[in-house]
Amino acid sequence: RHALLFYCRAGFENDCRQEWEARSGQTGGWETAPGFALFKPGKGGEADPNPPAAKELIFARQMLYVLADVQLGDKDRLTPIVDALKAGKTPAFNDVWLEHPDSDEGKPLSGFCRRFGDIARKALQENNLIDESARYRLHLFFPSMNRVLICSVDPNLAASDWPMGIPRVRMPAEAPSRSTLKLAEAFMTLVPDAESLLKPGMTGVDLGAAPGGWTYQLVTRGIKVYAIDNGPMKGDMAIHPNVKHMRTDGFKFRPQNPVDWLVCDMIEQPARVAQLIAQWLAHGQARMAVFNLKLPMKKRWTEVERCFDLIDQILGAADIRYTLTAKHLYHDREEITCFLARQKAGNKRGR
Ligand code: SAM
Repeated sequence: RHALLFYCRAGFENDCRQEWEARSGQTGGWETAPGFALFKPGKGGEADPNPPAAKELIFARQMLYVLADVQLGDKDRLTPIVDALKAGKTPAFNDVWLEHPDSDEGKPLSGFCRRFGDIARKALQENNLIDESARYRLHLFFPSMNRVLICSVDPNLAASDWPMGIPRVRMPAEAPSRSTLKLAEAFMTLVPDAESLLKPGMTGVDLGAAPGGWTYQLVTRGIKVYAIDNGPMKGDMAIHPNVKHMRTDGFKFRPQNPVDWLVCDMIEQPARVAQLIAQWLAHGQARMAVFNLKLPMKKRWTEVERCFDLIDQILGAADIRYTLTAKHLYHDREEITCFLARQKAGNKRGR
């Protein structure tokens, strides 16, 4: 069994670890440093025969299989890498990505990774280690200048399609807050087939909407929005014809007619938010929801499980089948973002 390398936001290594242990049933040794966690599976133990797919992990931005852990000198960093790949008799890779931890310690390595990337790619090509039709992608992860974790992943099964597991999201100039990036990222990476689920003419409710960054993401897709917040909406979102701002308590508001989308970014206890969203779906007041669970506490994974259990109880009692996916997005800080949708009858229930 290979060692596994997880990328995450600096400070969330233990959440990554707890989630992996809880969901895979695997135990072993861990090495963590800001921005990543390295797992070496132990021999014994009852591992879950179906560990979670990388894409389903919440706290991991990326998950890679470690082929070799190599110390590097100051002069020639290339030869040890090529030698390790040759010694491992690895087949060719479809591409090579150079990466470093997303942390204060890791940031100074970005220039090096860019420069060394060209050199490494050329050397790999000369050694017939790059072939566009190959299955796996090679990742060279530098925890420091003097160490590389040589890793691989099948891009079709990878947790993320983005270098360092960080999606590039454009900040729209007209959006009234940077929070808008969270919902944009959620639609890109968390909501399967989002473009077909976000259609002009649909309706939505935004709980805790002010100043309007999330509302902006919905109205630019042609969705009519009830924006619920005691605070003021700003800029275009204060005057947009498809936005109806209501100064009401987000926990009390209910729409007269069911809506397609419910989104919620209220800063509240996560269990209260989870319960609220599940009730909307259980009562048929919304079909799909994107919401944040704020996690300022130490035991974040435990809290996430508690919230998901609550959702399962409420939707289970209403006999509703659902899909639930969640991610600690790049633009999330001490919170995760979740997507919950009712499924058509006949589908399997569960996360
Ligand atoms: N998503 C917004 C954006 O993109 O601009 C930012 C939302 S901000 C993080 C949280 C908002 O939730 C605040 O404007 C606050 O007034 C609102 N809020 C908190 N509790 C609320 C409640 N019980 N009912 C309505 N709004 C609430």
